[in-house]
Amino acid sequence: MGSVFLATVVLTVAALRLPDVAPVMPLAAGTAVLVLLLRVVGMLEENSTLARMVRNREGHFNELARNSGDVILVLDRDGGVHYMSPGTAEAFGYRLDDVLAAPVTTLIHPEDLARTKAVTKLFTERASQGVHLRLRVRAADGTWRHTSSTISLYEQPGEPDRLLVTTSDISAQVALQDEVQHLTFHDGVTGLPNRAYLEERASDVLAHRAMSEDATGDVAVIFLDLDGFTAVNDSAGHVRGDHMLGQAARRLRGELGTDATLARWGGDEFAVLVEDVPEAQRVVDLAERLGRVIASEPFQVADRDILLTASIGVAFVDAATDSGELLRNADVAMTRAKERGAGNVEVYAAHMHDMVVSRLELQIRLRQALANSEFFLEYQPVVDLGTSQVNAVEALVRWDRDGEALGPAEFLGAAEESGLIVPLGEWILREACEKVAVWRVSDWDIGLSVNLSVKQVLSPRFVETIEGVLAETGLPAEVLTLEVDEEVLLDDEDDAVARLGELRELGVRLAIDDYGMGYASLAHLRELSVDAIKIDPSFIADLGRDDTVTLLTHTIIQLGRDLGVQVVAEGIERPEQLEQLRVMGCDHGQGFLVARPMAASGVEALVGGEAGAHL
Ligand code: C2E
Ligand code: MG
Ligand code: MG
Repeated sequence: MGSVFLATVVLTVAALRLPDVAPVMPLAAGTAVLVLLLRVVGMLEENSTLARMVRNREGHFNELARNSGDVILVLDRDGGVHYMSPGTAEAFGYRLDDVLAAPVTTLIHPEDLARTKAVTKLFTERASQGVHLRLRVRAADGTWRHTSSTISLYEQPGEPDRLLVTTSDISAQVALQDEVQHLTFHDGVTGLPNRAYLEERASDVLAHRAMSEDATGDVAVIFLDLDGFTAVNDSAGHVRGDHMLGQAARRLRGELGTDATLARWGGDEFAVLVEDVPEAQRVVDLAERLGRVIASEPFQVADRDILLTASIGVAFVDAATDSGELLRNADVAMTRAKERGAGNVEVYAAHMHDMVVSRLELQIRLRQALANSEFFLEYQPVVDLGTSQVNAVEALVRWDRDGEALGPAEFLGAAEESGLIVPLGEWILREACEKVAVWRVSDWDIGLSVNLSVKQVLSPRFVETIEGVLAETGLPAEVLTLEVDEEVLLDDEDDAVARLGELRELGVRLAIDDYGMGYASLAHLRELSVDAIKIDPSFIADLGRDDTVTLLTHTIIQLGRDLGVQVVAEGIERPEQLEQLRVMGCDHGQGFLVARPMAASGVEALVGGEAGAHL
């Protein structure tokens, strides 16, 4: 629009150049001369009117340029400035003479110059109109301003072709876009790119790879999940948890070069997109380094030092059809790594996918099972080896899945993973406490043992739940023994120990289950002041057959006695095992020889301690 207008003005000026005035002629030609003179005077007048009009129009044009806020330039092909609308130099902080002194290309960002050349070429090859271009232009204060320009060919008869450029400063708009982009693609907690960014980036990288023929390097994704972070978050609070994530992000970033994009995937998960990997081993090495940088040093949370590990999954592009699948595969491998135990690295393999799918199906099925009351309890008697009396039962959960009774090994892992263990554990506790409270009302002095998994112990409101169940069912606290695995003490020592300490304050008893597998140190037992240790069945199985195991069992029993802790031997199946345990001075025992786990009705039949009658 501006170009057409300017062109019209310039052409009009060219057409109005005055003709030479004719010389005075003899009288005979007087009339004609007079007529001619009159016409000349008329033309002069017309000319000055038109010239005034032109000036007005130029003024109008300048006025328009000023008011539009746009900068209008007419440029020579070499970038020299032929015309510049008023205020142009000032808009970028320059004096007019500075701008006129050098070609405008000196003010354009070096990275954008190639694009200006492309435009010039376009105009040379064919008469293009209205090409749009975004460039960064250097202002007098040295900052780069973002500009948007429209460029058209500006032709003038008898003059070389020039370019008419209309430019507006869009820096504010670009800054706003950047801000929106930042908010959309960045994670506020760690300052890293977020999941949305990584997904886009992965998709771009793969698309680019598919198009270019010389893309030989591999693309891989590393998924990293902090083990035990949820517990820290729950106990230390979200602000401290966030701070810890920030520390983890900095450590991870420190290990990565420019060919890798680190993002926070969500929660305590991070993902790394690695481009142009020359060989797969490099990615696995990197994954291991990332694991080490997390585990090598404790994290500072408030005044505590917390050690964390990371479970890591790696996936390569060749096993995936698109970027979504690549990312999913890395996630699957990470889940597999976690299943193998904290601090592992796994590389994705096709069979993992099927395993994850069936695991997810199981989790869904378990949720329904809890809602449909498909779980039930069996009770295994615990017998006093001295008196042969049943003085407690251990509640063991089973799942009636379409008429088939499944043991805990079949479903507890999935229940723990999905978090279902928390409501399921609460149901088990309430059900068992109710039952034993009823037995006790019938004058049977019997204790109850219930197993707890780590997730339950660290879940919010756990202690209150136990307190509530005891109050509701009327079971005295000292009758209830809570059994925890040795690994509870490993997973997140301080938190678990603190929770278990709170439990003891309620008056309930604590037992270490499957003792002897090599984790719980003597110091822990002291710290926790546990009431009982249950010797792992694998010891009892080899009793009398393996000298080392026999010696160890003896030592554990002795240790328990010295610490004033009750010792329960689990998995007694043969009479000679029972005999040896008695000789070693073991207080209590459990096992198929004594009594198998049984329904509540079976236990009721034992009232009076008949289970031990045949011992
Ligand atoms: P656990 O707490 O050590 O329970 C004892 C396990 O040993 C039971 O297996 C029991 O059936 C089995 N057992 C008892 N006597 C013998 C014997 O003489 N020989 C042999 N070979 N095995 C014997 P089950 O019921 O399959 O439970 C396995 C584990 O699942 C339990 O080990 C416990 O860690 C966990 N568990 C069971 N019920 C629950 C529950 O309600 N909550 C939680 N969190 N875990 C549970
Ligand atoms: Mg147990
Ligand atoms: Mg056990």
